[in-house]
Amino acid sequence: MDIFGKCYTDVLTRRAKEAMEAGLYPYFIPLSDTEATEVTIGDHRLIMIGSNNYLGLTMHPKVRQAAIEATEHFGPSCTGSPFLNGTLELHLELRRRLAEFVGKEAALVFSTGMQVNLGTISAVVGRGDFVITDKDDHASIVDGCRLAFGTTRRFNHSDMEHLDRVLSGIPEDAGKLVVVDGVYSMGGDIAPLPEIVALCKKHGARLMVDDAHSVGILGGGRGTAAHFGLTDEVDLIMGTFSKSFASLGGFIAGDADVIDFIKYHARTLIFSASITPASTAAAMASLEVMQEEPERIARVNQIGERMRNEYRKLGFNVGVSETPIVPVIIGDDIPTILAWKTLYDAGVYTNPVVPPGVPPESSRLRTSYMATHTDEQLDRVVAAFAELAKMLALEGKGE
Ligand code: PMP
Repeated sequence: MDIFGKCYTDVLTRRAKEAMEAGLYPYFIPLSDTEATEVTIGDHRLIMIGSNNYLGLTMHPKVRQAAIEATEHFGPSCTGSPFLNGTLELHLELRRRLAEFVGKEAALVFSTGMQVNLGTISAVVGRGDFVITDKDDHASIVDGCRLAFGTTRRFNHSDMEHLDRVLSGIPEDAGKLVVVDGVYSMGGDIAPLPEIVALCKKHGARLMVDDAHSVGILGGGRGTAAHFGLTDEVDLIMGTFSKSFASLGGFIAGDADVIDFIKYHARTLIFSASITPASTAAAMASLEVMQEEPERIARVNQIGERMRNEYRKLGFNVGVSETPIVPVIIGDDIPTILAWKTLYDAGVYTNPVVPPGVPPESSRLRTSYMATHTDEQLDRVVAAFAELAKMLALEGKGE
């Protein structure tokens, strides 16, 4: 049998090609230019509400300058892993500052957030251990569990009774790591950390929180644990630089001994090249801006609140969003793709999310905001959604 046989018959690939031919393919769209809040595709200009650039820092002069200067000084690559030749003092400085920022003893920096989760979970969850995850956790957590030698158990999304039952079913003397997202990327809801912490204590489990969508947003930018005043109760805080930090890379922070253990056992750290000087310097500059310009954090949260209210008034279902990630739940996948196309043509860039990304009948347009969106841009977005509401006959259904 030809191992490539499936490449010629794959249903997903065929459906993507059919959608492309019909002009209805919403993924892998190449941008010809970007100014963060607005992008250009061919000669079409759109307001971007599908990015994770929450604080708008890709456009910040200080962040851009830091990346340029680091490249000029150290070159474009570290040409090796942190374990061998790829550690710069700049990396150590970033690790120190991140640990201090999130309130932990130590931190490690990886080349992507995906690598943080793959490396950390597979290092910590050994044979005989258990890792317990929320069913809506990010794919990088799912894959970290698949790499680990321990056993994975899953609980229904933010269902604390289910988490309690799952933990009760695990042998008392087994090592247990609960891993949750701080903010869920498809729903924009916040993990119920106080209850999760209480259950971890009850069952002797350790807790890791993926704060990819929470650093820069919650707790004065320090993330979900800080938001709830639970920094000491969360054992490992993970973050990525590919969102609020306007860079590329990720980190894990915790007690110094645990971070040391991860440093010597995380294969995605040891066997992959270090984060580039430019990305390191950009992340460090973003960290400084987050502290110097807290008004950005306030602004992006206010925009999230405004847009939730606007969509609700128009009759849309925004689910349980509490953050600048605001899903507009349309229902089935085909109407969702058509809604995406209507907005796209009207100059608004959203991300349609359909199964298997979300359960059937909760296909949605994922919208997310930047502190740098202007009120005028947001007014234009609301006007486009108002037209969509008319098309979907939602008039009169608003709150
Ligand atoms: N965790 C979550 C919750 C994410 O949303 C993402 C990125 N979408 C990651 C981890 C991976 O981060 P990175 O882009 O840095 O690989």
